[in-house]
Amino acid sequence: MGTQSQIEVPEISPMPFPAPLEAQPTPAPTSKKKLVRRTDHDYSQFARRAFQGAFLVLNAWLGSIFYLWVRQFEAGGVPSSMPRPAGVEGWLPIAGLMNLRYLLLSHHVPSVHPAAMFLLIAFLAISFLFRKAFCSWLCPVGTLSEYLWRVGQKLFGRNFRLPRWLDLSLRSLKYLLLGFFVWAVLSMASDELAAFMSSPYGIIADVRMLNFFRHVGETAAIVLGILVVASLFVQNFWCRYLCPYGALLGLTALASPTRIRRHAESCIDCAKCAKACPSALPVDKLITIKSAECTGCLECVAVCPAKDTLSLTLPKFPGQAPPPPQVPVWAMAAGIAILFFGVVGFAKTSGYWDSQVPRAIYQQLVPQADEAQHPMPSESN
Ligand code: SF4
Ligand code: SF4
Repeated sequence: MGTQSQIEVPEISPMPFPAPLEAQPTPAPTSKKKLVRRTDHDYSQFARRAFQGAFLVLNAWLGSIFYLWVRQFEAGGVPSSMPRPAGVEGWLPIAGLMNLRYLLLSHHVPSVHPAAMFLLIAFLAISFLFRKAFCSWLCPVGTLSEYLWRVGQKLFGRNFRLPRWLDLSLRSLKYLLLGFFVWAVLSMASDELAAFMSSPYGIIADVRMLNFFRHVGETAAIVLGILVVASLFVQNFWCRYLCPYGALLGLTALASPTRIRRHAESCIDCAKCAKACPSALPVDKLITIKSAECTGCLECVAVCPAKDTLSLTLPKFPGQAPPPPQVPVWAMAAGIAILFFGVVGFAKTSGYWDSQVPRAIYQQLVPQADEAQHPMPSESN
């Protein structure tokens, strides 16, 4: 697994299942270094939660507008001129991937769900520059997952970590899912991609996604219930084990020039950082965190009591004396906002943001969205 090859994982003995976080052996201090206490006020978690809240509100707003837009077609009659909120295509990551490949192959901006592609580009850029920050700063599912494990922590006084063998096996699932989707997309030529996206099934993929949440079937409800319960016990269960989008962004983050870096000389080996890390990374044992699991949440930085010891850093420039330059929280927050609004703003102002689908087509397809058949490869040509 790419993750494990990037970090120096210390020898960890097998643990009983389920093993409470608190029951894990806290590494005994290996030194009696004097603590030089930090004096700065850490506002990373305030900034991160503000981004999470804003993105939740944005998604709720987009979802509401999109629901009303769908309802006008379902209600029959003459639909109003209400525009379709293309931002909902952030929920169509496969369409984003297909359209990105189409753009790279054909050098043309796709005409159906282009916003899915622009949002994917923005999130890839954010992940490249600021680790997998999309997951811990922006993603609504990541935010809900985080609040679920915090609720679980309050209810049960702890979260749980799976035994290492099971944790590793489950973590591979998201890469397998990602591998399947990437293989499917890479196996399609540009004309096949265009034909798929402009098929009835491709055009109303967003409506089908809405319908999935509006009319949750029994099986889906059971699966969602299991995920919610598991998320109460295990931190970020969905993100850690199952989300292929997070897997893609994590692999992108492996190439990131920024990483969490620990200054061993001033570190007092209190292990607070490792205990706070929702990705269960051994931050207190490593000098740099290169793992694809690091979400750039800065929880570890927020709890570190030692001055200038733990931070998100840029690489050292050649010939530059240590320490490497830090990325302040305000710069990370500004960078995420600039990349997001920059890419979306470019797509909107250049006229590439909205799908080029006539309203008459939507009028015909939206009321029967659930009946649209997945086009077979031969049909999409
Ligand atoms: S706590 Fe630190 S190491 Fe762990 S995921 Fe967040 S930023 Fe990365
Ligand atoms: S880097 Fe981690 S172990 Fe070292 S002082 Fe900070 S919180 Fe404690």
